Amino acid sequence: MLPDLERLIRLQRLDDATVETRRAVAAIPARMTALEARLQASRTRAEDARRRQEEARKSRREVEKRLGEIQGRLTRFKDQLMAVKTNKEYTAMQHEIATAEGEVARLEDTILEHMLEADELDAAADAAERADREESAAVERERAELDEERAAMERRLEGASDERAKLTGSIGAASLRLFESIAVQRRGLAVVEARNGHCTVCNVRLRPQVFNQILLNTELIRCESCLRLLYHDPDRPADPPAEAPAANGRAG
Ligand SMILES: [Zn+2]
Repeated sequence: MLPDLERLIRLQRLDDATVETRRAVAAIPARMTALEARLQASRTRAEDARRRQEEARKSRREVEKRLGEIQGRLTRFKDQLMAVKTNKEYTAMQHEIATAEGEVARLEDTILEHMLEADELDAAADAAERADREESAAVERERAELDEERAAMERRLEGASDERAKLTGSIGAASLRLFESIAVQRRGLAVVEARNGHCTVCNVRLRPQVFNQILLNTELIRCESCLRLLYHDPDRPADPPAEAPAANGRAG
């Protein structure tokens, strides 16, 4: 293979990998933000569960307070019952007592319901807190991995930069200029494979004698359509003729 062509292919691969790595580095802040959002969501779930538990406790305390008041009133009524003088007073007092007792029973039922609910809310709050601790630990771990990943990619970029400098130093000036000018115009993609008689990027069908020349890999040949440099990869076998058996004028 023509030495410059072989080096330009390597240069293209290096540049492709660099673009890929830069893209991955650029995606890291969004991944960090997503981790932060996960953490926030799990914290909110734990806080909500704690708040529901706290609210239920508060309303149970209010019911207990109310129960205490009614029970106090009931005790007073019973004391007063001893002191009543008339039947009418006695009946009225007994009515008050019955009402208060009904209220006590109702409040006691409410407290029982609260206690049952409290068991569920306690369990839910504990579970949410446990889940939050686990999520925090997982996010912390993933953050550290992401930091490591970024550091590794930055090291790779530095290595690629050194390698690129070395590689470009070994390429003929005219070949390199050609590569750079195509790369600028073609969004970084200057050297592409030709396969089965076609440019694999713009897909144009190459003239048979041009393709035969490309198969030799002995000179820099440009696609007539997209103007990129074309090469043949001898390690990659030609695709078997598929849908169009007659149309493929391949020269052996
Ligand atoms: Zn092309």
